[in-house]
Amino acid sequence: MTSSLHQRSRWRRTVQTTVSGMVTASWLMLQMLTALPPAIAQSEAEDELFSYGEFLKSVDAGQVEQVNLDPERGIAEVIFKGDDEDTEPRQVQLFAGDGRNPDLIQRLRQEGVAVEVASAGNGGAIAWVATNTLLIFVLVFGLLLILRRSAGSAGGAMSFGKSRARFQMEAKTGVTFAEVAGIEEAKEELQEVVTFLKKPEKFTAIGAKIPRGVLLIGPPGTGKTLLAKAIAGEAAVPFFSISGSEFVEMFVGVGASRVRDLFKKAKENAPCIVFIDEIDAVGRQRGTGIGGGNDEREQTLNQLLTEMDGFEGNSGIIIIAATNRVDVLDQALLRPGRFDRQIMVDPPDAKGRLEILQVHARNKKLDEAVSLDVIARRTPGFTGADLANLLNEAAILTARRRKEAITMAEVDAAVDRVIAGMEGIPLVDSKSKRLIAYHEVGHAIVGTLVKDHNPVQKVTLIPRGQAQGLTWFTPDDDQTLISRSQILAMIMGLLGGRAAEDVIFGQAEVTTGASSDLQRVTSLARQMVTRFGMSDLGPLSLEGAQEEVFLGRNWLNRSEYSEEIGSSIDAQVHAIVDRCYGQAKQIMLENRLVIDRLVDLLVEKETLDGDEFRQIVSEYTAIPQKTLVKTGS
Ligand code: ADP
Ligand code: ZN
Repeated sequence: MTSSLHQRSRWRRTVQTTVSGMVTASWLMLQMLTALPPAIAQSEAEDELFSYGEFLKSVDAGQVEQVNLDPERGIAEVIFKGDDEDTEPRQVQLFAGDGRNPDLIQRLRQEGVAVEVASAGNGGAIAWVATNTLLIFVLVFGLLLILRRSAGSAGGAMSFGKSRARFQMEAKTGVTFAEVAGIEEAKEELQEVVTFLKKPEKFTAIGAKIPRGVLLIGPPGTGKTLLAKAIAGEAAVPFFSISGSEFVEMFVGVGASRVRDLFKKAKENAPCIVFIDEIDAVGRQRGTGIGGGNDEREQTLNQLLTEMDGFEGNSGIIIIAATNRVDVLDQALLRPGRFDRQIMVDPPDAKGRLEILQVHARNKKLDEAVSLDVIARRTPGFTGADLANLLNEAAILTARRRKEAITMAEVDAAVDRVIAGMEGIPLVDSKSKRLIAYHEVGHAIVGTLVKDHNPVQKVTLIPRGQAQGLTWFTPDDDQTLISRSQILAMIMGLLGGRAAEDVIFGQAEVTTGASSDLQRVTSLARQMVTRFGMSDLGPLSLEGAQEEVFLGRNWLNRSEYSEEIGSSIDAQVHAIVDRCYGQAKQIMLENRLVIDRLVDLLVEKETLDGDEFRQIVSEYTAIPQKTLVKTGS
């Protein structure tokens, strides 16, 4: 059987090369299929048959130890005395019927030769065929895999209609809230979702409707997936996940059928969590693009909406979606009964970073000299994923340097690495960090000290999108009419950032950071004059109603009034802005001490919440009672 052995090893070699590509694989398939029958034939033909006569002679000479008769193939395998186990038996072609020839058997018995009648002698060949069948299976399987991969969307075409499940399901995520750190607000809000899943009776008993969808909004790596998994883990329910980009296929209908499949499975496994990552890939505003891909996306989105609407009462399915681009989402997704809960998942501040580092340091060996607090301070702008990555890089470096425990040297090197791999440079430069802090505190202090301004909710130096820092004000959501003094307060608050830069650093140092503030200021002031009749020009409407009032989109067509009126509008706008700017600057000058202290604190902590902020301000000056205070938060 040497040749067949040879064959086998050649095939084995070829199997190893299949991975190299689909073309090779299909070529091989062809080779195998055509080569298979001749290969068998060949292996028989080339076996060293010896003649029946020689066989009988050896038997007579007492050289034969055992004969295996194979009646079906008409072959006898002859094992000679002294053959060791590895020696392939020699084969003899028997004459027809000899397989059961009693004469032959008797003769063999007489000579003391062991006789076995079966096709056992064929074992080698069977094994050979079996092995190769297995190889073919492996090949075919590999080929299918390659096809699925390389064809990508064609994979959808293959399973057209009834789509293959592209979603993942984890029966138990094993993630708990303890593993999620630094995003406390989001965690608290989501705690309730766990209760929905665990004890729906608590809510349904009093007629409360359980929310269907929760939208997590935040940049990549802030722990949105982790949060969703933690909810499933805490509630001990299965976790289904799919990425929005998976829905978007080349062929119309595939995405939609995938959504159907996903929800079918989810319903079978309710209560459960369905997590849709990158929902913006499928949930973009409809009708905003061209081409087939767009049709497909719309169908998928429509299917998603249909499925969400189709849950009756409490179906036990809660859909959690994640995105960084809530602004591009189709409004239909945000309607009540769909993703009406929106939770911000922001990059962590210094304290949050420390907590995240603590979570990820649990299973790592750290040198005593390593201070997580110091690392947290040195990593502004890092997300949870960056921090996890940071500690992991440090651990790898430590192993490479054959050290026992991670030291500050490895941490430093890892910080450099992670920063190099991040887009956008986080705030490490302390001068610009201070400048941004003054800008934000400027907004916030005006917001706090001007009576008609909404109260400060939070001031932060955590960058988001284009903005390097942000000041949030608690909106007053049941207000439909806005007074003149409120608009002026808004303008003053918006100018607070620039005013602070101006007062603290001087005219020469003011930055471009205020550009979007100024845009909104101009738009507000202009509307006061042209739409709301709130200027010395009197109650005139000089512009048709425009779309959103306060979004700063309101670029004007100046054709509706004379040039003369046009220039007095400009003068009025100027006057309003000048007056407000003067007042904002005045506030900066009068409150320099507390501003400096707030800036120090903000640079250190990166985030100050409204109550904290007001507490400090109140130590220096009286805060006017807000007319529209809701919760201070
Ligand atoms: P996202 O879904 O927001 O892009 P992930 O949840 O996938 O981010 O985060 C990736 C990894 O980063 C997580 O598996 C976890 O190890 C780490 N991570 C991110 N955020 C946090 C956090 N807040 N607390 C602890 N670990 C975090
Ligand atoms: Zn600003």
